[in-house]
Amino acid sequence: MVHNFNAGPSILPKEVFEEAAAAVLNFNNTGLSILEYGHRTAAFEAIMQEARQLMRELMALDEQHEVLFLHGGASTQFMQVPMNLLDLKDTAAYTDTGVWAAKAIKEAKLFGKPEVVCSSKDKNYTFIPKDFAVPNDAKYLHITTNNTIYGTQWKKIPVTSNSLVADMSSDILSRSMNFNVFDLIYAGAQKNIGAAGVTIVVVNKNILGKLKRNIPTMMDYRNHIAEGSMLNTPPVFAVYTCMLTLRWLKKQGGVNAIEKINNQKAALLYNEIDRNTLFKGTVAVEDRSNMNVCFVMNDANKEKAFLDYATQHQIIGIKGHRSVGGFRASLYNAMPLSSVEYLVSIMQQFEQNNPS
Ligand SMILES: *Cc1c(COP(=O)(O)O)cnc(C)c1O
Repeated sequence: MVHNFNAGPSILPKEVFEEAAAAVLNFNNTGLSILEYGHRTAAFEAIMQEARQLMRELMALDEQHEVLFLHGGASTQFMQVPMNLLDLKDTAAYTDTGVWAAKAIKEAKLFGKPEVVCSSKDKNYTFIPKDFAVPNDAKYLHITTNNTIYGTQWKKIPVTSNSLVADMSSDILSRSMNFNVFDLIYAGAQKNIGAAGVTIVVVNKNILGKLKRNIPTMMDYRNHIAEGSMLNTPPVFAVYTCMLTLRWLKKQGGVNAIEKINNQKAALLYNEIDRNTLFKGTVAVEDRSNMNVCFVMNDANKEKAFLDYATQHQIIGIKGHRSVGGFRASLYNAMPLSSVEYLVSIMQQFEQNNPS
């Protein structure tokens, strides 16, 4: 058995793979593959509807919030958000907590005046800034709730009178929070929700339509709301896998239930990193991500040997991002506790074989 700790695209529940595979061959007993199935059909409309409804239910969204399934990845949201929410002279507050956050800031400059209100860049993004002020006139405050590359996570969502916007690509639906305090949430599906190719946007419809700018048809959230995420051909298969994963999550007991397991998995691995004489964590303890666990070895010369050892033991995807080095184990919702226990046992064996 292979244990997949990849950061994204990443592990999904086995039953989702099985159902998705079956639908590629014969969707709903139609004799047709989901890959050749029209999106303007009752059967696909029902899938889109169920996916949307499951998102609403799992996030406990109020009536003001709309759920969209769009193309282009979270990276397209870096531009689409400011295009829909900022006029050229407007400011927006951005928190610089990693490479993805920095990319969002860069795109916002094309549509308004982003102001960086805090940054952890000079410490290689190893912590979440806590003390910062948001200008009153900022149209919104943008945060990246989980910094996938560095392994930091906002444990407390900042309280602000400004509108709150979040990139939740790597921790959406992994922990309970009041999702209604956000006016806009976006996330590429491929880390916690489904196959690559679809991006989830949750938006408070009351914040839209306030700009002087003309927005291209495909970029205007209002058009996607009006057409139920079917303004053009949606990524049919990717939406289908999302729907299956969301069904699975509901069956597990929803966000509260998965959060408990996610906490357990992360605690297990961080405890081992702290106990094991060979390893150490890379970020401030209070900001440690429950989704992406980053760690290095005290003796960097042993890192290749550990990576080889892990690979020999069917542990996949733990090589750290090049900007951090070392290792990163991603523990998304679908990662079973047993795989984390297994990784811990491999770290212990390696320690026994390689005393420091
Ligand atoms: C992966 C990731 C992105 C980029 O997502 P794409 O869908 O590839 O554009 C953006 N933000 C965060 C936090 C991510 O983890």
